[in-house]
Amino acid sequence: MLIERLAIIGVGLIGGSLARALRQGGHVREVVGFGRSLGNLQRAVDLKVIDRAAISAADAAQGADMIVVAVPVGSMKEIFAQVAAGLVDGAVVTDVGSVKGAVVDAARQAFGARFGAFVPGHPIAGTEHSGVAASKADLFEKHRVILTPESETDAAAVTRVRAMWEATGAKVTLLPVEQHDAVLAACSHLPHMLAYALVDMLVRRDDHRLTFELAASGFRDFTRIASSDPVMWRDICLANSGAITELLRDFRDNLDALAAAIARRDGEWLMQTFERAKHARDSLLRKPKDSGIGTED
Ligand code: NAP
Repeated sequence: MLIERLAIIGVGLIGGSLARALRQGGHVREVVGFGRSLGNLQRAVDLKVIDRAAISAADAAQGADMIVVAVPVGSMKEIFAQVAAGLVDGAVVTDVGSVKGAVVDAARQAFGARFGAFVPGHPIAGTEHSGVAASKADLFEKHRVILTPESETDAAAVTRVRAMWEATGAKVTLLPVEQHDAVLAACSHLPHMLAYALVDMLVRRDDHRLTFELAASGFRDFTRIASSDPVMWRDICLANSGAITELLRDFRDNLDALAAAIARRDGEWLMQTFERAKHARDSLLRKPKDSGIGTED
C-alpha cells in the first residue's frame, strides 16, 4: 500500500480527484478530509471520495502519512500552521497550489525545522469547474505534475510524492520555484487574465446580449476559462503578482503594436504576425496523445 492514511485538506476539484484516483487504484487504505463547509465534506463522504471528515486540519493531519493541502493559494498559510500542529514524525506534506514561490515561503514559516517534510507540487490539470462534485479519478492521467523541491526538502519525501502522482497516471517533472512561477504566469495565468478581462469588457457594453447570443465556438473556446473560480484566481494573481504584472505590461505593448498596424492598414505586418503565431501554435502545441503533457486551467 502506497499510503496508509491520506489527509486531504480542501476536498474540491483537485483534492477530490486525487483521492478518487488513489482509491480507484487501490493505493490508499484510508482517506480523511477537511474543508470549510460541512455540506461539502458530507457530499465527499456520500460520493465515497473520503472515508470520513476531520474536525480540523490538525485533526486530519494527525496520524496521516501523506497530507495534501488543496485549498486556494491565499488560504495555504493558515492551513499549514494548523497542519504543523498535527504533523507526526515521518509524515510528508505536499500541496497543489498554482503558484509556488508564495506557498513555499508560507510553508517555510509554518513548518520551521520540519520544512524538509514539505514537497511543493502543482498538477497541470483541471477544469473551469470546482468542488468535489466535479472531481474525477482520471483528471491527472497523462498530465504533468510539477514538483519544486527546495535544497532542504527531504529526498525521500520527494520520492513518495512522486510515487503518489505517478500512481494517478501523471508524469512528474521537477522545476525550480522561480521557473515554475514565470512559465505558469505565461502559459496559464496570463490567458486567464485575458479571458476574464475580455468577458468583463464585453458584458459592460450596451449590445452585450446580442454579442453573447451571436458568439460562436471561437469565442466560447477563448473565454471558457473565464468561468473559473474567482477566489482561486484572485489568490493566484496576488501570490504571483510580479510575474503576472510584467507579462501584462508586455502583452499591452504587443496589443498596442497590433492596434497601430490595424489603424495604419498594414496588411504585411498583420500577415507576418498571424503567420508567425499560427506556425508556432500549430507546431508547438501539436503533441502526441500520450506525450504526458496536459493543459492546466
Ligand atoms: P475547489 O474545487 O474550490 O476546492 C477547494 C476546496 O478547498 C473546497 O472544498 C473548499 O471547501 C476548501 N477550502 C477553501 N478554503 C478553505 C479554508 N480556508 N480551509 C479549509 N478548506 C478550504 O478548488 P480547486 O480547483 O480544487 O483548487 C484547489 C487548489 O488547486 C488551488 O490552490 C488551485 O490553485 C490549485 N489548482 C487548481 C487547478 C484547477 O484547474 N482548478 C489546477 C491545478 C491546481 P468548501 O467547499 O467547504 O468551501
